[in-house]
Parts: sequence; C-alpha cells; structure tokens
Amino acid sequence: MKRMIFDDDHDMFRDGVRRFMQSEIEPKIEQWRENGCCDPVAFLRAGEQGLLCMWADEKYGGLGIEDFRFEQVVIEETIRHGDIGLFLTLHSRLVGPYIGHLGSEPLKARLLPKCISGETILGIAMTEPNAGSDLAGMKSRATRDGDDWILNGSKTFISNGINGGAFIVAARTVPGKPHGIGLFVVEDDMQGFSRGRNLKKMGLKTQDTAELFFENVRIPAENVLGDPEKGFYNLMHHLAEERLISACQEVAHAQVAFDLTMDYILERKAFGKPIAAFQNSRFKMAEMRTSLDILQTFIDQCVLLHNQGELSAELAAEAKLFASELESTVMDNCVQLHGGSGYMSEYRISHMFTDARVSRIYAGSSEIMKEIIARSIGLDERKLLG
Ligand SMILES: Cc1cc2nc3c(=O)[nH]c(=O)nc-3n(C[C@H](O)[C@H](O)[C@H](O)COP(=O)(O)OP(=O)(O)OC[C@H]3O[C@@H](n4cnc5c(N)ncnc54)[C@H](O)[C@@H]3O)c2cc1C
Repeated sequence: MKRMIFDDDHDMFRDGVRRFMQSEIEPKIEQWRENGCCDPVAFLRAGEQGLLCMWADEKYGGLGIEDFRFEQVVIEETIRHGDIGLFLTLHSRLVGPYIGHLGSEPLKARLLPKCISGETILGIAMTEPNAGSDLAGMKSRATRDGDDWILNGSKTFISNGINGGAFIVAARTVPGKPHGIGLFVVEDDMQGFSRGRNLKKMGLKTQDTAELFFENVRIPAENVLGDPEKGFYNLMHHLAEERLISACQEVAHAQVAFDLTMDYILERKAFGKPIAAFQNSRFKMAEMRTSLDILQTFIDQCVLLHNQGELSAELAAEAKLFASELESTVMDNCVQLHGGSGYMSEYRISHMFTDARVSRIYAGSSEIMKEIIARSIGLDERKLLG
C-alpha cells in the first residue's frame, strides 16, 4: 500500500540510509550475531552519516531535525538491511532527548557532540532485579552531598550496556515516596561505576544487554537531569515516544518477515506446486497483508500526531500493543510457511522469530499497555473497586 506520510525529502533520505545500511551494516550482521554484540564502530559510521541524534541543535553538531519521520526511515532501513538489534534509535531518540530537554548546559555542551558523532553510546537504566513493570519498586538510591549526589544500587537488562559510554540512571531520591525518583547521567569513567557481563539472550544477538552497578558514584550537579524529585514524571513524559519507537520497529520487522516469506513460498515447491499455491498459504499471506496495512496506517497516523505534539500515552500504548502482538503472530506464521528451513539458523526468519519475542515484554509489556488503555476508557481498577 502506498504510504502517504513521506515526501520527496524523506524518500531521498531513505535512499542514502539504505545505501549506508547495505554497504556498512548488512555484511557485518552475522559476525555481530556470533559475537553477541555489535561493534561500537557501527555508531561512529552512523554518526559520520548524520544519522544519530538528528534532533539535536546545530550548535552541538546536530541537524536540528525534529520531524520523527526521518527517524522512522532510519528504523525501517536499519531493520530491513541491518538488524533489529542495532539500537541506533535507542541511543538517538529514546535516551538522547532526556539530555537535550533536561540536561544542564555544560552537560549538553560536553556530551551531545560525542553522542552525535557516535563516540559516546547512550543507554537508559530503569529496570532492577526487583523492579521492572513496577518502577515504583526501585531500590537504587541517590543522596545529596553538597551540590553533588551519591548513587548506589544496581540495574539489569540494560540495552547498550556493554558498548554504552553514558547511562541515564533512575534512582530513588525521596525515601518512602514511590514516585520520588531522580534521573542522573552516569559516565563510564566515573569511579564506583562497573558493568556485569553481556547477558546471554534468546534473541537480539547483535544487541548487548548488561547489568550495571553503582557503588558510591559521585554525580556532579551538572549531570542531574531536571528536578531530582520529578524523574518519574519525566520518564512518563518520554514513554509515549518510546512506545511509538517500539511500534515502528515492530511493524517494520513484520513487514520484512512478510517479504522474505513471500519470496520463499514462491520459490519452494511441494506436491508439484509452489507452497504459495496452497490455499492455506494464500489465505495466511492475505490475512497478514491486511493486518499489516491497517497497522502501518495507524502507526503512520501516530507519527504525524507525534510530530504535532499530540500523541497521547494511550494511543502510543495502543500502537505498541497491537504492533508487538501482530509482529509475534506474523513471525510465527512466517516460520510455519518456511517449514523446517524456518527453524534453521541460516534462514533469517529463524532469528527474526526469536528477536520478536521480546517486543511484548520490554518498553512496557502487553499487559501494562492494556492497563494504560483500559484506564483511558474509564476502566481503572482502583476506581472500580472504590
Ligand atoms: C532484551 C531486553 C532489553 C531491555 N532493555 C532495557 C533497558 O535498556 N533499560 C531498562 O531499564 N530496562 C530494559 N529492559 C527491561 C524491560 O523493560 C523489563 O523486562 C520489562 O519492563 C518487564 O519487567 P520485568 O522483566 O521485571 O517483568 P515483571 O514486571 O516481573 O513482569 C512479569 C510478568 O507479569 C506481568 N505483569 C506485571 N505487572 C502486571 C500488572 N499490573 N498487570 C498484569 N500483568 C502484569 C508482565 O506483563 C509480565 O508478563 C530490557 C529487557 C529485555 C528483555
């Protein structure tokens, strides 16, 4: 289906991103997958192409592009010609804007140029061994010491955890107050900061996921993001974009799986005819095509709303919920249509299947998305139970 949201500038930009992904990224994916981590040089190369933190002001070396459609293009081409585990957008749009919007001027002047060039890779650390969906349960704490803060605690499952050079860390600043949380930028050369091993995962093998530890890490005032007691609200404010990013990734991933499967079923034969000729195959493909077109249209509409500053948390949750659920369904159908080959690592669809499984869990699980949506339609459990 022709998509109506892009104009000539986006199309030209897409051509350039595609060429970059095909020449610099695609040939290296298999090696990165075996290593369990991408090479951080990927970020430097992407930085040279101007693909990182495009929103950042020109005075820091950015392009000043707020239009999310350019990021959507980066997401789509990274997934089509690279891999969903290469978390350029986590760096650029999921973490970077906290520094851009909430950071002190000295922090922005020092860090943003290195984020734009890819010299410093960013991550965000909210999850703890005992606090995932329920962030209010986090135990990491920061206490004031003059103008500085002293950070103690640990985080787990942190994306870009091995390659990352700076992390936004959420920590409790007001004891006893569930939402009394601050956001702090921890740089990897700070004393008391350390990271654990690269955690072994079912999928997303090109992506490094790690534990992070903080032992009396001294955080200077310039590394505090916004009001140190209002971090929870700042996190909530950015979560709509995080969910939109997830939805864009998930639909892009499913679109690639659909195309790969189309090629496969036209080629492969059984009982003297192409797999594509069986009614089951044709109907499955027709169902997937229909669902994907509807989902893509909805997500594109959310992108336009986001560009106007009008994407609500509920709509973003709907996009993330539907995209991650459909992505899983599409991957399962596509593996099935590939038969035994779909289970073999040499076929891309097998990785895509395991890569997709996390989408319903991270960036807010499907169950949490349903809670948010239910509340928005007046079905708030707390209110219903009085
Ligand atoms: C590959 C990967 C990368 C990640 N990257 C990052 C990162 O960069 N930074 C970061 O901070 N975190 C990251 N995470 C953590 C991720 O955000 C959490 O795993 C996720 O929020 C779920 O939390 P949990 O694992 O503690 O599960 P839990 O919260 O323990 O949930 C377990 C199950 O209970 C369900 N559940 C929980 N609460 C409710 C409820 N109220 N109603 C109904 N069901 C509920 C959940 O949906 C889930 O099915 C990553 C995780 C993975 C797997």
